[in-house]
Amino acid sequence: MSSAIDSGFFDKGVDVSEQRTAIVTGAARGIGAAVAKKLAADGLAIAVLDLDEASTADTVKAITDAGGRALGVGADVSDEDSVAAAVEKIAKELGDPTVLINNAGITRDNLLFKMPVSDWDAVMNVHLRGAFLMTRAVQQYMVAAKFGRVVNLSSTSAQGNRGQVNYSAAKAGMQGFTKTLSIELGKFGVTANAIAPGFIETEMTAATAERVGVPFEDFKAAAASQIPVARVGQPDDIANTAAFFVSEGAGFVSGQVIYVAGGPKD
Ligand code: NAP
Repeated sequence: MSSAIDSGFFDKGVDVSEQRTAIVTGAARGIGAAVAKKLAADGLAIAVLDLDEASTADTVKAITDAGGRALGVGADVSDEDSVAAAVEKIAKELGDPTVLINNAGITRDNLLFKMPVSDWDAVMNVHLRGAFLMTRAVQQYMVAAKFGRVVNLSSTSAQGNRGQVNYSAAKAGMQGFTKTLSIELGKFGVTANAIAPGFIETEMTAATAERVGVPFEDFKAAAASQIPVARVGQPDDIANTAAFFVSEGAGFVSGQVIYVAGGPKD
C-alpha cells in the first residue's frame, strides 16, 4: 500500500523524532502536490496520499530530491477501512500525524435535472465523508500531541455555481465541518481552517474546460478577465495559504474560511 522513501535527512542532522508529520490527501497532482511540496520545504515529513499509490511517485520524488521525507500512500479517503489502514501505516512509518490537509476532490458536474444520484453520492463521499473519515482517524494523534492543524479545501463554488449542485453543497459543507472541528478540538491545541480557492489552474479546471468544449487557454483567459488580480490562480497560491494555517505561529487562527480567489468574496 505504501512506499517509504527517506532521503538525506539523517545526513543533514535533522532530528526526525522532532519533525511533525503531515498527511496531504489527493497529493499526486494539482493543489495537493503543491501543498505537499511546500510543507516539506517548511520542514514537515509528508504522507503523500492519493487513490493510487503509483500516482504519488512524482510528488514523493520531488520532496525527497529536495532533501525532505515523504511516504507515498494509496488510499480511498471515502472508504473507512482504507483510511484506517493508511493512517496507521503513516503513524508507524513516518511518525504520528498532527497536520492534515483534506484536499482530495472530484467533480461530477451536471444541471440538477440531469444529475444521477450516483454523481451526487460520489462528490459527497469524496469531499465530506472523506474529510470526516480522515479527520476522525487522525485527531487521536493531534489530541495526544496537544497540537494539530486541519486545513480543509472548500471552494468559491460554496456560494453557488451553475452545474455544480453536488460540488457546491459539499464545499459549503466543508465550511460547517471546519467550524465545528475548531470548536470541538480547540482545547487540545488543534486548529481547523478552510481555504476556498477560486479558479486554480489544475487538471480539474482543464477537465471542466474540456467538458464545456472551450480550449483551456481561452477558458483561463475568460476566467482571468473576471478576476481583480487579472490572472487565474496557481497551486502554489493555495500551498502558501495552507502553509500559514499549518505554521506554529497560527495557533490563534481557527474556524476561519479564507477565500483565495484573486479578489474579494463574501
Ligand atoms: P485534481 O487535480 O483533480 O486533484 C485531485 C486529486 O485527488 C487527484 O489526484 C485525485 O486522484 C485525488 N482523489 C480523488 N478522489 C480521491 C479519493 N477518493 N481518495 C484519495 N484521493 C482522491 O484537483 P485540484 O484542482 O488539485 O483540487 C484539489 C482540491 O481543491 C479539491 O478538493 C478541489 O475541489 C479543490 N478546489 C479546486 C479548485 C480549482 O480551481 N482547481 C477550486 C476550488 C477548490 P485521481 O486522479 O486518481 O482521481
